[in-house]
Amino acid sequence: MAKSPERHGHPRAAPRRLLARVRDVMAGAGAAQERLDRITEIIAADMVAEVCSVYVRRPGEVLELFATQGLNPDAVHRTRLKFGEGLIGEIAAQARPFALADAQEHPNFAYRPETGEEIYHSLMGVPVLRGGRVTGVIAVQNRTRRHYTEEEVETLQTVAMVLAELIAGGELLKAGDRVADDDIPLTALTLEGLKLNGGLGMGRAVLHQPHFVIDKLVAEDPAAERRRLEEAFTGMHGALDDMLGAEALEDGGEHRDVLESYRMIAEDAGWTARIEEAIDGGLTAEAAVQKVQEDIRARMSHVADPYLRERVFDFDDLAGRLLRHLLGGGARLDDKEIPENAILIARAMGPAELLDYDAARLKGLVLEEGSPTAHVAIIARALQIPVVGHARNATDRIEEGEQIIVDGDNAQVFVRPGPDIRRAYQVSLLALDEQKARYQALKGKPSETKDGERISLNINAGLMIDLAHLDEYGADGIGLFRTEIPFMTQSDFPDLDAQRQVYARVFEEAAGKPVVFRTLDVGGDKALPYWRNGNEENPALGWRAIRVSLDHPALLERQLRALIEAAQGRPLRIMFPMIAEVAEFNAAREVLDRELARQKKEGQPAPETVDVGAMMEVPGLLFQLPALLKRVDFLSIGSNDLAQFLFASDRANPKLADRYDELSPAFIAVLRQVVGECRQAQVPLSLCGEMAGRPIDAMALVGLGFRSISMATPCIGPVKEMIRSLPLAALEVFLESLSDDNGHSLRGRFEAFALEHGVAV
Ligand code: PEP
Ligand code: MG
Repeated sequence: MAKSPERHGHPRAAPRRLLARVRDVMAGAGAAQERLDRITEIIAADMVAEVCSVYVRRPGEVLELFATQGLNPDAVHRTRLKFGEGLIGEIAAQARPFALADAQEHPNFAYRPETGEEIYHSLMGVPVLRGGRVTGVIAVQNRTRRHYTEEEVETLQTVAMVLAELIAGGELLKAGDRVADDDIPLTALTLEGLKLNGGLGMGRAVLHQPHFVIDKLVAEDPAAERRRLEEAFTGMHGALDDMLGAEALEDGGEHRDVLESYRMIAEDAGWTARIEEAIDGGLTAEAAVQKVQEDIRARMSHVADPYLRERVFDFDDLAGRLLRHLLGGGARLDDKEIPENAILIARAMGPAELLDYDAARLKGLVLEEGSPTAHVAIIARALQIPVVGHARNATDRIEEGEQIIVDGDNAQVFVRPGPDIRRAYQVSLLALDEQKARYQALKGKPSETKDGERISLNINAGLMIDLAHLDEYGADGIGLFRTEIPFMTQSDFPDLDAQRQVYARVFEEAAGKPVVFRTLDVGGDKALPYWRNGNEENPALGWRAIRVSLDHPALLERQLRALIEAAQGRPLRIMFPMIAEVAEFNAAREVLDRELARQKKEGQPAPETVDVGAMMEVPGLLFQLPALLKRVDFLSIGSNDLAQFLFASDRANPKLADRYDELSPAFIAVLRQVVGECRQAQVPLSLCGEMAGRPIDAMALVGLGFRSISMATPCIGPVKEMIRSLPLAALEVFLESLSDDNGHSLRGRFEAFALEHGVAV
C-alpha cells in the first residue's frame, strides 16, 4: 500500500474542522434549504472566499443556483446554466474541478448580470458526484487573483461528497419544485433504441445506481481510519488470493492474468494514496473509498478508449469489495423506494439486479446497452414490462422523477412527453387492451393450423408470476422452467428444503400440465449475487451451466434430489443445459440415476415417470446427434445460445444484436437437420429460445416440422393467432423453394409468404 511519509504523520487539521462543521449542520435541525444556506456560509468563511455558491442539477442537464453566500440572493432559484455553459456548466460537463486565478480570462466565462459576479477574479469549483453522475457544483470565488492550492481543491471535493447526500435526500429538490419548476424551459426528448421487449408503459424515471449506504461520512481520527483502510486492504487481498487461487485452480493461464490485473489495480499507488488523502481530509475510510471511486467514474465516463472504460468496472468491483470489508455485516446497497409506476433507467443491468426491484411497480425499462436475448430482457419479458435498449446516453439525459413513456414495440422512449404524445399513448394503450382481450378469447380455441395440424404451445417460466399466467392464454405446459431464476433472488444458495418448496409449488400451480425443469444454468450473463466466479475473459464461453453442475456434483445432487422429492409421484421432466458432448449428458444422467436409486432405497415415492432431455445449444453436439438421440427422452433447442455459438456472436453484445438472423439459410439448415434426425429416431423435439415467441419465426419453425415450441407467456396469444391462420401445406411447399436462397436472411421471404396467405404475424 502506498505511503506518503510526510502526510502520514501529519493529517491535515483544517479541512477536518470544516468537514466536522458541515457534518454538524447536516445532522442538525431545519429544512434542507436552510441547512444548505448555512453550509454555504460556513464554506465561504472557512475558505476565506467572498462567494460560495451551490448549484443543483435539474432536469434537462440544467444547473440551478440553490444557495449562495456573496452573490445576489435574488438570483437563487433563478440563475440556471446548461451543462457546458460558463465555467460552472463546464465543471459539470467535464465532471472535474477547476481552479482559476483569472476566471474572467477563461474563454468559457459566462457573465450573468443578475448574480453581480463580474467583480470576482478567481474561481474554484468542484462537481458534486453521486453514483457516477454529476448532481451539482460547488464554487467559491475571490475578488483578488487568488491561486487555490491543490489541498483546497481536495477539501472542497470532500465537502462535495457530504453535500451529495443532502442533494440525494430529495427534500431540497422538492422544495425547489415549489419555488420554480414549471419555468424550466424543458423540451420533450425522444430517444430511439432497439426493441428488447414490446408493450407500452408510462411512469416516472428511476435511475438505477447501486450505491452503498454509508452512515458515517466524517471521522475525528484519521490515523484510526487509515488503520481500518489498511486492514480492509489486507482482508481484500487475502480474499482475492483465495478466490482466484481456489476457483481457477493451479494450471495458470487466464486466472493468473485476472489476478495480476486485479493486483495491479488493488496495489495502484495512486489509488490508495488518493483514498488516504481523502481520509486525511476528514472522511471515514468508507466515505474516502467511495469519494475516490466517484471521481474515477466521473473522469472515466469521458474517456473514449473502451479498454480504459472497462477498467472502471475493475475499479468498481474492487471498491465494492473494499467497502464490503470496511462496512462488514452492515454493508447494504441503497434500495430506494420506487414510485408506483417506475420506469427504470440504466446503463446496463444483469437479470438479478432487475429482480431486486419490486416488479409490481415497474412499468418499463430503458437501457443504454442490451440485446434481445440477454437475460435481463428475458426476465423483463416474463415480468411483461416493455424494454428499449441502445438508448444513447439515457442515464445522462433523463433525470430522476421525470415523466417517461416507453414504447417497446417502436423502440422509442419519450422523455417529458407533451400532451399530444400523452394522448396518443392513451389511445395506444386502449388498442393494446383490445388486442389482449382478443388473445384471451383464443384461450379455449385449439392451437391448430388451418389444415388441422396441432401445435403444442408452452411457456418459458422462472418466476412465480409466470405460473399465474399459465392459464391466461391457454398454454399447454411449461416447456422451460429456468431454475436459476429462483436462485438469483436468494441471498445464498437455496438448501434442499427451499428448493423442494419452490419446485413443489411449480408442480401445484401447473395443475397437471407438463413442466420441463432445466437444471441450474448460471454463468455467462447470469450471475448469482452471492457467487462470483471470477472475471472471465469470455463468460459466454466460460464456466457455465452443466459445466458448473458437473464440477460441483453436490450442487447438482441437491437440485435433483429436490426435484425428485417435489415430484411426489407425478411425472418428472428434467433437462440439462448447454450440453456440448454426449459424455457430458451421460455424466449428468448418471448423477440423476444415482439420486433416483438412493430415493428408492430410502423408500420414498418415486416420480410416476422420469423423462430426461438435453438442450441443443452447442453446435459440437450436432455432430453426435445419432448417439445423443439414443440416450435422451427428448431434445429442446435453445436457439438463443445455439445462434450465439453457431455464428460466434455474443448474444449479450449490443453491437451484434441484429447482426445475424435465425431465419438465415445456415440456421434454417441446422434446424432442418435436427428435425429430420429427431423424427427418424422418434425423439420428441421442442425449441425454447426467444425466436419461438416471434410469430414470423414461429411460422418458419412449424413449417420446418416443429410440433412443440416454448416461449415467453405474452407471446402465446400472437403465436396462436398466427397458427390458426396458417395454411401449413402451402408453407411446406414454399419452404422447398427456399433451399437455394443464400441471402443474408430469409425473413423478407417469410414475411411475403405470410402477407400473401393472410397469416397473422
Ligand atoms: C436458449 O439459450 O435459447 C435458452 C432457452 O436458454 P437461456 O436463454 O436461458 O440461455
Ligand atoms: Mg441457453
